[in-house]
Amino acid sequence: MSEEMVIAVPEAVARAAHIDRAKYQAMYARSVSDPEGFWAEHGKRIDWIKPYSKIKEVSYDAEDLHIRWFHDGTLNASANCLDRHLATRGDQTAILWEGDDPNESKAITYRELHAEVSKFANVLKALGVEKGDRVTIYLPMIPEAAVAMLACARVGAIHSVVFGGFSPDSLANRIQDCDSTIVITADEGLRGGRKVPLKKNADAALASCPSCKTCVVVRRTGGAVEMKDGRDHWYHDLMLAASADCPPAEMRAEDPLFILYTSGSTGKPKGVLHTTGGYMVYASMTHEYVFDYKPGEVYWCTADVGWVTGHTYILYGPLANGAITLMFEGVPNYPDASRFWQVVDKHDVNIFYTAPTAIRALMREGEELVKKTSRKSLRLLGSVGEPINPEAWLWYHRVVGDERCPIVDTWWQTETGGILITPLPGATDLKPGSATLPFFGVKPMLVDNDGNVLEGATEGNLCIADSWPGQMRTVYGDHDRFIQTYFSTFKGRYFTGDGCRRDADGYYWITGRVDDVINVSGHRMGTAEVESALVAHSKVAEAAVVGYPHDIKGQGIYAYVTLNVGEEPTEELRKELVQWVRREIGPIASPDLIQWAPALPKTRSGKIMRRILRKIAANEHDQLGDTSTLADPAVVDDLVGNRMNRA
Ligand code: ATP
Ligand code: MG
Repeated sequence: MSEEMVIAVPEAVARAAHIDRAKYQAMYARSVSDPEGFWAEHGKRIDWIKPYSKIKEVSYDAEDLHIRWFHDGTLNASANCLDRHLATRGDQTAILWEGDDPNESKAITYRELHAEVSKFANVLKALGVEKGDRVTIYLPMIPEAAVAMLACARVGAIHSVVFGGFSPDSLANRIQDCDSTIVITADEGLRGGRKVPLKKNADAALASCPSCKTCVVVRRTGGAVEMKDGRDHWYHDLMLAASADCPPAEMRAEDPLFILYTSGSTGKPKGVLHTTGGYMVYASMTHEYVFDYKPGEVYWCTADVGWVTGHTYILYGPLANGAITLMFEGVPNYPDASRFWQVVDKHDVNIFYTAPTAIRALMREGEELVKKTSRKSLRLLGSVGEPINPEAWLWYHRVVGDERCPIVDTWWQTETGGILITPLPGATDLKPGSATLPFFGVKPMLVDNDGNVLEGATEGNLCIADSWPGQMRTVYGDHDRFIQTYFSTFKGRYFTGDGCRRDADGYYWITGRVDDVINVSGHRMGTAEVESALVAHSKVAEAAVVGYPHDIKGQGIYAYVTLNVGEEPTEELRKELVQWVRREIGPIASPDLIQWAPALPKTRSGKIMRRILRKIAANEHDQLGDTSTLADPAVVDDLVGNRMNRA
């Protein structure tokens, strides 16, 4: 795929957008030359109880590491998402909920949400929850998840949302790690027509969490559950008696808002801690500008609230902006693989934000399923979570967006709180596969392995030179791990762990995690490039590439390939794919081994777990490490059974 391809900002998009090219350039320049002035101004976009006078107090020096934004201001995050809208748009929809069952949906107004949140905040108080306490939320994608999160924010408790797909063990680890005293769950979740036994999982987890003494249970399916006397309470019972009057707690800007465990692609999950003021400013600002959100538009982010994308771009960002945010309980392929587009038509969705894994899965099913829907309401598409292969990008653009909708490929991390590198639809010409340019206030830099800063068109380790308001503040309970993980590899800089290329136009191309870089006969290669070449073949749906020990080259290239529905895995095709990659990239990148993979091992958020694939490729399948965040362990068994390297 040629990186020369540029898709210019359509005139009409630029004219209607919040930010056009000239404005981006001027604002960006000021944001990095005068961060104090820039953020002093933009910090006002949210409501403060006591205005800040301090803006940015940051040191990335490992000896004296501190990150503080708007330090002396006070505010409440839930008041910013709810109370501030009551006068202007109290009767507008806040959450548009679409159930797993296509016949189930409902709209909740800002006024209704405000009342529910206030009530549940009173419930939490009655259960003894105080400022700073940790509350674990283990819920499906139902409005009560949003209510629970905002209610925590309202009373100043710290929520820790654990994705509903996690096992009892994973849940228990996360409850113990942050010492939470209360869990909020549901009887069962519903995904793709199947029931998920959440309460049963929570019971199993709580058996090993003696300090967690309270469990609140939302009734979702009505399935039978055991309720333990004195510990378990029904949500609806508690809500009946609760008052809808609960003044928001006055929080300091640097008081914690939430803990969230990273998705676990690379190892033991980290409890990423975000605070209140800077996070809210950054969440709302990125949501408005990256998605070019305009009042009244229907905005849909398909993530789960269990991931940071759900926190920032289903909940806090959109609600702070008074948006209509769609929350979807189901999965992309239920009842069939056109569900996303049916939902888009049903609710006239204007802005749609999803992950490459979903795009590749739907691509595999063919375009008919998309084309039979209208999608005329769509005006902007987004992608997040992994590098998006140019082939998948172009399909998304042509088939889903009818070549009308710009795509924002947004690069960020749980740690960054919000989007750092991204196009702005009215300002940035697009290149398929590139996350393009930094957001306001963000100073990306590429450094070599010795920490030397690289200039111009080059490739290296992606660092961020200075802080932005949405940055994480610590690893909960382990500040040393925070410093070690992010600030010790390259002194004085935030290290993202990702590799990246910058082209002659200053565009950034994420090449994958640096741990995944392959070194073939001294040539360093990102996994993204080889995978994109494979995916560009018409028979290939998805590919994952890792290095494995090779006597002559140091590392050889081992590719796991999933074919499109209906394609046969043959020896001939294997040879054809090797030739194909040779032609696309060069002989140095041609795979030494190709294994047919019915499916790839993924995290529960849908990211390919190359760490595990590396072990299988190295014939070290007995040392797979922590597999608790794996979505489907059976996938790994199949790959181990059919591994190509048995040396
Ligand atoms: P862990 O840190 O526990 O290993 P994780 O890194 O998968 O898990 P997240 O914070 O959800 O957890 O993911 C952030 C990572 O996802 C980034 O560091 C990057 O590798 C990848 N990523 C996210 N968005 C993009 C994007 N638009 N393009 C390329 N890569 C992306
Ligand atoms: Mg990470």
